[in-house]
Formats: sequence, structure tokens, C-alpha cells
Amino acid sequence: MDQIQWVGFDMDYTLAPYKQEALDKLSIDATVEKLVKRGYPEWLKDIEYKPDFPIRGLLVDKKLGNVLKMDRYQYVKRAYHGYHELDPETRHSLYHARRLRVGSHRYHWIDTLYGLSEVSVYTAIIDLMHEKGEKLDFLQLFTDVRESIDEAHRDGTIHDTLFADPASFVMKDPRLATLLHKLRSGGKQLFLLTNSGPETTERMMRFLLEPTGNGYHTWHNYFDLIITAAKKPVFFNKTHPFTHTDEQGETQTSPLPTRGKVNVGGNLGGLRKYLDTPGDQILYIGDHIYGDVLRAKKETAWRTIMIVQEMKEELHAQHVSASALTELETTSEIREQVTARLLEVQSKLKHVRRKIDTLRKAHPNHSGDNGPSTNERQQLEDQRIQLEQEIEIVRTQVELAESRIEELDSLIESTFHPHWGSPFQAGTELSYFGHQVEHFACLYTDRVTNLLNYGPTHYYRSPRDRMPHFSQ
Ligand SMILES: [Mg+2]
Repeated sequence: MDQIQWVGFDMDYTLAPYKQEALDKLSIDATVEKLVKRGYPEWLKDIEYKPDFPIRGLLVDKKLGNVLKMDRYQYVKRAYHGYHELDPETRHSLYHARRLRVGSHRYHWIDTLYGLSEVSVYTAIIDLMHEKGEKLDFLQLFTDVRESIDEAHRDGTIHDTLFADPASFVMKDPRLATLLHKLRSGGKQLFLLTNSGPETTERMMRFLLEPTGNGYHTWHNYFDLIITAAKKPVFFNKTHPFTHTDEQGETQTSPLPTRGKVNVGGNLGGLRKYLDTPGDQILYIGDHIYGDVLRAKKETAWRTIMIVQEMKEELHAQHVSASALTELETTSEIREQVTARLLEVQSKLKHVRRKIDTLRKAHPNHSGDNGPSTNERQQLEDQRIQLEQEIEIVRTQVELAESRIEELDSLIESTFHPHWGSPFQAGTELSYFGHQVEHFACLYTDRVTNLLNYGPTHYYRSPRDRMPHFSQ
């Protein structure tokens, strides 16, 4: 942090953490309302939707109406149709035969917490239709759900309810003002870069930071630069101009953002010129893996912090399943050892059997003879029996370890989430989402004010990376 000159912030889910349950309910109700207006049956309003069914990082297969969780290599590790989990054979035949193209039109990646309500609605409707045995155009349904929620955002249905009582939907953290002030006192300059429009930004930031203290007149004074309606990720590679409203109420357009104004639109090139600071001395904090963190990392040398609200539950689940996780590690080690022993004994047995065969071929008629070859053969036969018995024992040990691992895996996964397990893990691998977080975010944490736990020049050091080198 010592090197950082500028700290940029996204707003929604970064400076403004939402109360997910309340926001989900609001979004679901608004979506269903719009769907019914589009001609969907009225009884959609009576379905019990499950806001806690989806997690971030899932992939919607719009063609087949399935919801998928992938590992870092884009292998599908879990799949649901409605609330029914697909069996491994179906899952394999649908998704493992060829590489899954996450970016293609067939799939929709849920990479923000905003997207969870869409999955809740989509899944509940599919589940009900499946129960009723009715046919459904899965692609059309998803398009309608998406358009309905967008419409509810555009026409103010969601915003009006939200801003009528923001405290019910947004967590106001009194430490936010302290953090911004502390960063400024530590010599950093701050900018706000949000996709929300100027009016929404105004209302939200006022709610979050006003009434102000520490000599700040309005929330604007905490920031050296304010950019709204930024259209990230497009912001990072397009050339839209910046606009702002001047004292006469006229709209002014400029290639660079203007200090002291609420800028609208703009692009990375203009911002970069304005900041005039090497990329690695700029830190950007956001919650959207693609729009904030990934694009920033690909187009700039900015350092990034990702806000992952789920971290809190993740750490809690880790704490609860600590003893199971330890047992899993020990049992996995035991499995390695007994599997290695099994291979060793099997190879010995093969060797002994080959020797017996060779002897048999060399002395085919020695059945009644007590010569040296018979003794040797007897010894080998004894060894063979002993090794076969040992194989039985070791094989049972491998099976026991494997079934215990399976038990522990499902126990641990259900502690994290009954349907999907941890958002960050998929079996023994990182999930696709976990991999993206690790790959593109320099740091990640559950809320921005956690930065207050460290000084403005703190050096954040990551654990040493190790590759799983294999040797004999
Ligand atoms: Mg955001």
C-alpha cells in the first residue's frame, strides 16, 4: 500500500454492500411481476422461490435449462435441472465429451450477486414445469427472466423501493467514512468509478457517507474524482467521452474527467491521462470479477482488490468443518500410503507368479520329486499366498479410506452450501470462480472497511506459491 498513489472504488457491492436476502426478494418479486405482464401465467406469483438456492460462479445452460458448477478447468462438477441434481452419467455425457465454451451464447455466467435472483426464478419455474411434465423453451425463459429484471431496474421498480428505505437493503458501515479519511490522510488520492448513473450514485453515496464528519461538507469531498455511468467493462477499451453538467446546467464534454464534478461515461484512456501515475501505483477495488477485476488486470497494470461478500460465510463454514477438514487431510495421506503399498505388493506378486511360471516351464514333470526346484517352487507358492492375502487386506484399507473421504467430502460441502458446496472449491480443485478470484485479484476480502485493520502503508504478503511437483 505504500506504493499506491490512487485508490479507486466501485460503488454497488463494494462501497455499498447489499443485504442479499432483502435485495433478492425485491428482485425476484419485480421479475415475476414483469414476467406475468409479458404473458406468463398468474400462478407464477404463488411459487415459492428459493433465493438461497444459487451461489455466485454458477453457469446457466440456457439450451437445456440446467445450472452448472465448474472446476478451474471448466469441467462440470455439479449440475441441477430445477432442484433435481443430474446423476454423474448424465452430467458426463452432456458436458464432458467436449470442451465447454463459457463465453458462448448457450451459457450465462453468474459472476455478480445481482445475478442470483435470476437463477432463483429460472430454477423454480423449470422445476415446477418439470414436475408437471410440461414442455418449456429454456432459452426463451432465460431471455425473458433477464429482460424482466433489466426492465425492473430501468423503469425504477427496484430503485424506487430501494431508496424509499435504503437501510433495509444496504448495509451502512460507519467505518467507511473513517477508511476514506484515513486513506486520504495517508497521502492517497481517491476516485469513484461506478456503472450506476449520476442520480443513483448521488442517492446511494449520500446514504452511505452523510451526514459527514472530519470537515467534509458532502460525500463528494471524500473523492478527488467521481465517474458515474462508466459502462464497465466497455469503459476499459472504448473511447466514450466524459461529460458533466456545469454551473449553468449545460452538459460539457471532454476527453478527460473533470475534478470537482460528477463525470458521466468516459474511458480508460482519459482516466489514465488524468491520473498520470504508473499503473502499479493505482489500486482499484471492485466486486465484479469481469467488469472490475479481470478487465482492469487485462487492460492495465492496476493492482486490484476484490470484494467477495461470501467470504464471511466461507470462513464460518471453514471454522465449523475444521475437524472434518483435518481428518480429510489425514485420511487422504493414508489413502496415498495404502494405495502405494497396494501397487508395491501387486508388483511383487506379479514377479513371484512369473517365477513360478518359469519354474513350471523349466521342470514340467517334477511333481513327485523332492529336488531343489520343488523346494524353491514351494517357497514361491507360500510367498504367493502370503502376498495375495496382503493384497486383500490392503485393498480393504484403500476402500475404507476412499469411502471415508467420500463421506467427509459431502459432509464438508454441505456445511458450505447444501446444493453447491463452497463457491471457491469444486471437489479437490478450485472452482472456476475460485480460480478467477485467485488469478485476477491481488487481494480479496468480504468488505472494504477491512482495510482499516491495517495501516495505509501496510505490505500485504501472500503465502509462497508452490507447484505440485512430482518425483519418484
Ligand atoms: Mg459493483
